[in-house]
Amino acid sequence: MKQEWQRSTVRDIPLYYNPKVSGIRMDTSTNPLGANPAAKEALRECLRLDLNQYPSPYSDGLREALGNLYGLKADNFVAGNGSDEALDVIFKSFMEPGESVVLPYPSYSLHGYFVKVNGGRVAIVDLKDDFQLDVEAINRMPGKMVLLCTPNNPTSNTFRRKDIEALLEKGRIVVVDEAYGEFAGKSFIPDVNDYDNLIVTRTFSKAYALAGMRIGYATSNIDLVSVMQRVRIPYSLNRVSEHVAIQALRDQSFVEKSVALVKRGRKTLEAGLKGLGFQVFPSEANFILFKSPIRSNLLVQRLAEKGVMIRDFGKLRRLDDCARTTIGTEQMNDFLLKKCKEVLEECQ
Ligand code: PMP
Repeated sequence: MKQEWQRSTVRDIPLYYNPKVSGIRMDTSTNPLGANPAAKEALRECLRLDLNQYPSPYSDGLREALGNLYGLKADNFVAGNGSDEALDVIFKSFMEPGESVVLPYPSYSLHGYFVKVNGGRVAIVDLKDDFQLDVEAINRMPGKMVLLCTPNNPTSNTFRRKDIEALLEKGRIVVVDEAYGEFAGKSFIPDVNDYDNLIVTRTFSKAYALAGMRIGYATSNIDLVSVMQRVRIPYSLNRVSEHVAIQALRDQSFVEKSVALVKRGRKTLEAGLKGLGFQVFPSEANFILFKSPIRSNLLVQRLAEKGVMIRDFGKLRRLDDCARTTIGTEQMNDFLLKKCKEVLEECQ
């Protein structure tokens, strides 16, 4: 293929993480409790849906249900096929090709991807040594918008509210990706009507245990939403996903149970990993970043051979020998710690 056929901004985009799956999955920060029970029940009801008919073009039923949950209006929400689609819609709506978006580093790799596939440029600002935002450097950096996630993936910490407020005060659009927000118990969603430049994204993939269904959303004031609604592909969420999402929202006890499990497991894993000689970074998410005393790619490979998958970040700048594990059930956490111990003994 001739290189010039390919759009220049997408030339250096690698394929996404797609590992050979074997054993217990603690590499994707998903919910270890298995599929959401209310959603499974809802799936049975889906047999009665008229699948020959299109869904609601803008998933109005789900937007209404989200409005009720947060005390906002349906018109404060844009539904997406995963929060990834919501992020894509944000750049399609507010970034001209050639414009830059400011991204803290290290952070979620797909943030840069969405900027680039939409013809934008990435302006990277490193997080400070403690993985907190460098507010002055971000505010100095030219760019149309800022996108960050809190809790931050993969560093697992949250950012300070006052730092994000300082970014908002500069007046450009700030997107706060709260894919893991439920686990931290902090949110900018109650603030969306107070800012003309704040967009928050959330997902059903983590606390709601529905990664396989692909449901997420963006929320902001109704002016920003009305722009995004026009840009988003109509019908992007199918009837089944919308119905399942609405039912899952009704069962908040499952989300509470998931968050409680993560809080307990976080303590166990932090203590266990520290005890084995790993450096553990503070987490407010459903995953933990830690630095390995042996090469992280070796650790991750050996763990996979022993039946548990975690994610290696050791190749990334500033994350030398770092790996990330999901916080699992008690049994999963114990299994991971046991296997880490074995690998360390075999490799040291
Ligand atoms: N944002 C962050 C920070 C994530 O880690 C992820 C999932 N890996 C997403 C967004 C995308 O989530 P979804 O499954 O809703 O597309």
